[in-house]
Amino acid sequence: MTSTTSTVPALDPANPFATPSDLPYALPDFAAIRDEHYLPAFEAGMAEERAEVETIVTNPEPPTEENLLLELELSGALLDRVSTVFFSRTSADTTDALDALEEQLAPRLAEHHDAIYLDRRLHDRLEALQARVEAGEVTLPDDSAWLLHTLRRDVRRAGVALEEGAKTRLRELNARITSLETAFGRELLADTNASAVLLEDEADLEGLPEDAVAAARQAAQDRGHDTGWLVELMLYSQQPVLASLRRRDVRRRVHEASVRRGGHGGEHDTRAILLELALLRAERARLLGFDHHGAYVADDSTARTTEAVDGMLHRLAPAAAANARREAADLERALQADEPGATLEPWDWSFYAERVRQERYALDDALLRPYLELDRVLHDGVFHAATELYGITFTRRKDLVGYHHDVQVYEVHDADGTGIGLFLADWYTRASKRGGAWMNNLVDQSGLLGDLPVVMNNLNIPKPPADEPTLLSWDEVITMFHEFGHALHGLFSAVRLPSQSGTAVPRDFVEYPSQVNEMWAWEPSVLRRYAVHHETGEPMPEEWVGTMIASRQFNEGFSTTEYLAAALLDQAWHQLQADEVPTDVEEVEAFEARALEAAGVAVHAVPPRYRTTYFNHVFGGGYAAAYYSYIWSEVLDADTVEWFAENGGLLRETGDRFRQALLSRGGSLDVMDTFRELRGREPRIEPLLARRGLADGA
Ligand SMILES: [Zn+2]
Repeated sequence: MTSTTSTVPALDPANPFATPSDLPYALPDFAAIRDEHYLPAFEAGMAEERAEVETIVTNPEPPTEENLLLELELSGALLDRVSTVFFSRTSADTTDALDALEEQLAPRLAEHHDAIYLDRRLHDRLEALQARVEAGEVTLPDDSAWLLHTLRRDVRRAGVALEEGAKTRLRELNARITSLETAFGRELLADTNASAVLLEDEADLEGLPEDAVAAARQAAQDRGHDTGWLVELMLYSQQPVLASLRRRDVRRRVHEASVRRGGHGGEHDTRAILLELALLRAERARLLGFDHHGAYVADDSTARTTEAVDGMLHRLAPAAAANARREAADLERALQADEPGATLEPWDWSFYAERVRQERYALDDALLRPYLELDRVLHDGVFHAATELYGITFTRRKDLVGYHHDVQVYEVHDADGTGIGLFLADWYTRASKRGGAWMNNLVDQSGLLGDLPVVMNNLNIPKPPADEPTLLSWDEVITMFHEFGHALHGLFSAVRLPSQSGTAVPRDFVEYPSQVNEMWAWEPSVLRRYAVHHETGEPMPEEWVGTMIASRQFNEGFSTTEYLAAALLDQAWHQLQADEVPTDVEEVEAFEARALEAAGVAVHAVPPRYRTTYFNHVFGGGYAAAYYSYIWSEVLDADTVEWFAENGGLLRETGDRFRQALLSRGGSLDVMDTFRELRGREPRIEPLLARRGLADGA
């Protein structure tokens, strides 16, 4: 294992990854980083970490916190530096060269990880430390005790106890699975770009708001079309333009382009990739002693078992589907006023939902947009709420830059003026960015290393032409608050060990703080402040605010059903044994249909939020068998929103308690204890059911 060390040349000290950045908060020096710096830094970083781990596992002294746990925490620093920057680039501003490098690196990184976690000597050393703790020879502080617990579990889950033949197969599986995930994401992005709909006739755009027309015109130009308007696709099924496009045939074209992604043959078809992934994940789970991949994933989450996951999803599904069918009947009546006898189709849903919403609540996105200007929402909404709750303030640092000129850098100060970290924001969509919205860390907070956090938010807001303001949809406003909730989880981290920093918590817990932060978008005092007309400066009319709050449960049957359908599909694919995985790409669609039918969420006009062939969360990466996490976290969220209401709402005292009990503690303990400590009891499902207008057991 150490033989690789000698074959890797030492990293050129001029490589920007060679040492921690000198910039404030060790912000990566993006201006200095060039594509050719990545590969040598990765190679040197892997070699360095292997050598460090070799020293740790061959230490002749009895294991201690210092020589085992803390040394492990300190290892791999170079690899961390290059990885965080590289993966944030490949997600948000990739190139063909970086894509190729990512594909080349993926199996090598998986192999590197395996070499550490499948090392029997590491396992033995961890077990020896555990024995010393139990014998009273060593006392560990709480965070290290939790680290020892999770490391022992992770090493076991990695398959360290397997015999050599099985270990070899496991390594092959890990490398192949990682490559397939990368390939899935790449083909999907390519097909999503290729599936953008070019409209050549101005009449096709009827109903589309002016800024969306301008954005589509710009997109067409950017992609080399001399004429026409290009409707770019968002990752999820339901495309935002469907709410306003008047022509039914055009809506149908956009919808079909969206839902056939990845499954229509041709060079970017994802079906063979995803079937192989389902198969290999099932095989791997069995090798590791689990019934299927779902059970393997649940094992280290807060849910613990797929029975618990299924129980939650199945408790919600009938109520959600019944609600969606009631909504569909309403919308079909509206459709039939235009086209007598017509059946409501998926491409009609958003359009008629908007119409009914307008009739009932006299509000639509086009009306709201002029009041939702990006900078105003950011400063007077997202940042303002954080200042009220936690006392923190934000200063734009134009002297600091990201990897793209659209990235904004802010320094974050605590109430007493102390700098606590950096927040980077990259709002706009571009062809080189993957779909969706996310937060990532560029530097993990850690007391051990003396590092403060550098965190980043990415969104996919269509960029308006130069000099025009960015006007948001209501969904985009919520997304900004949501992603900023993750950012706060990273920024407020006050832990000692870097591996336990900020959002390093189980997948089915990580969405909880971000979902809680969405509540401040709705808070009347905050909303009044940021929802101001971008030209006239008039606040959003008071009755609209009341109407928006009254309309919160509108369309919740649809939203809950499309989400649950995706979550149940994810479970269906990942609760298969290897011999149950379809072998023919033509079977993917039928499998999907059967799974939705069996789960009771096959509602004609409500496609899953993601269909199998473009379900990037679960086939492109981290959320395989874990897409349920969003609603699992939302149970905690809705319960916590109640806690805020019971404790005075938007107040420093309340914010500080939440920060102290939850946001500051990262993954340094069993995170469910942080919830129990805050709430004083186990989570209850009722607040979520009430919020979504779903009577329990309906
Ligand atoms: Zn999130």
